[in-house]
Amino acid sequence: MNSGYDVIIGLEVHVELKTQSKLFCSCSASFGAEPNTHTCPVCLGMPGVLPVLNEEAVAYAVKAALALRCTVHPFSKFDRKQYFYPDLPKAYQISQYDQPLAEYGAVPIIVDGHVVKEVTVRRIHMEEDAGKLNHLGIRLGDAKGSLVDLNRAGVPLIEIVSEPDMRSADEARLYLTELRNVLSYLDISDLRMEEGSMRCDANVSLRPHDYVGSLEDLPRVEIKNVNSIRNVQRGIEYEVARQAELLARGERIVKETRGFDDQNGRTYSQRSKEEANDYRYFPEPDLPPLVLTQEAIERVARSLPPAPTVLREELQQAGVTAKEAEIIVGDRALWEYWREATTHYEDKRQVTNWILSDLSRLLNAHGDTWLTPRVTPAALADLLRLIANGTLSGRMAKEVLDRMYESGATAAQTVEAMGVSQITDHGAIQAVVQQVVADNPHVVQDYLNGKEKALGFLVGQVMKQTKGQAKPDMVNAILKGVIADYAKT
Ligand code: ADP
Ligand code: MG
Ligand code: ZN
Repeated sequence: MNSGYDVIIGLEVHVELKTQSKLFCSCSASFGAEPNTHTCPVCLGMPGVLPVLNEEAVAYAVKAALALRCTVHPFSKFDRKQYFYPDLPKAYQISQYDQPLAEYGAVPIIVDGHVVKEVTVRRIHMEEDAGKLNHLGIRLGDAKGSLVDLNRAGVPLIEIVSEPDMRSADEARLYLTELRNVLSYLDISDLRMEEGSMRCDANVSLRPHDYVGSLEDLPRVEIKNVNSIRNVQRGIEYEVARQAELLARGERIVKETRGFDDQNGRTYSQRSKEEANDYRYFPEPDLPPLVLTQEAIERVARSLPPAPTVLREELQQAGVTAKEAEIIVGDRALWEYWREATTHYEDKRQVTNWILSDLSRLLNAHGDTWLTPRVTPAALADLLRLIANGTLSGRMAKEVLDRMYESGATAAQTVEAMGVSQITDHGAIQAVVQQVVADNPHVVQDYLNGKEKALGFLVGQVMKQTKGQAKPDMVNAILKGVIADYAKT
């Protein structure tokens, strides 16, 4: 990176909570319904209606705040943030301004399974979502119009605001990855960036090395509503390069809001940035303050699942490498699969190998995810037992797993259908070995003369004659014994 400045990044992340109903009315909060069917006078912003706070949303928000290691305040309040936009019929959004629900948490940045840095979460507040505009290019005579869908208006959100602690696009990516990871274990949101249930605004500035003021005073650009973690990273990379070029030319960086065009990987100017006083925040008069007892907060704290960092450690204690643990914990469904499979089968090392190699390969090949694996953890455990008891060699088991994945049959059924099973009968293997030795006297002599490779050829012959079903370690041992006897004659 350029030596004349540091890259400064702070992220604002909006997460839609998957409650039954909206934040202040009883309309459904679910995604994907016919436009404007989930609406009522409250979320349409009719005059004279009263919002009523959804307690489930509060419980979810508290859960998120505690999982992100924030202090949850027993007293917070709602404020009106006022602006006009067609997706906001009330012309104000109910949010939390100077007394947010929670403050000062942390998200670890994980590299190779280790925490290398902690990014401070400055605040988490609750607010309602706005509706959605569809710019379909509708024509009304000579004018061009857009359609508005207010199903999303009033859906509960939490906004998670980080300190400007990140120093590269890569760190921003890792922050978002871990943030989503932590939240994924809580069951409070779909966390789908492409559907908008998780959205990120990235603030980017460059701090010249001789700069002495506060970070807040640096001119920064806010890249709005980027729809994937990858694009957040790309947007930041572009923005850093753009700003560096401006600085190099001796130009000023303008504080503004920019969009990200993922087609050409560039940010583009949208508008100059509003300041807080443009919004004329004031306390929401229709809602009482949000008061939580210490006991209620502690109850939520006790119900939290273990954090991913704890899960990583548990996995590593079970003999899983840091890198493997990262893959497993990074996908909750995969972690659940691993956990269940290891309750069915004791050898955790073996379970991990099969999950991360062959089963992962099959999932990828079929475009499946760990939410819908076609081989259940119990079925995998049954297969591993057939290896352990000598019915199948590792190589045969791979073929059996392929078939199981296609058919959904059990390991035992598949072995029966394929007519495969490992030959472990000592006498049977010995008979084949004796035949192979008798048929290949020169090769045996080579081996006796010290040519180690010759043994591999003989093993191959035995495997060929047994259609690959002889147990490999037995073939080796028996072959050596038979050759030793042969040498004596
Ligand atoms: P705003 O209303 O301007 O969006 P917020 O307080 O909601 O203000 O968020 C400000 C965001 O900008 C925070 O995520 C913070 O970390 C970030 N930020 C502050 N200063 C800088 C900076 N110099 N460079 C990059 N990001 C910054
Ligand atoms: Mg903001
Ligand atoms: Zn409603």
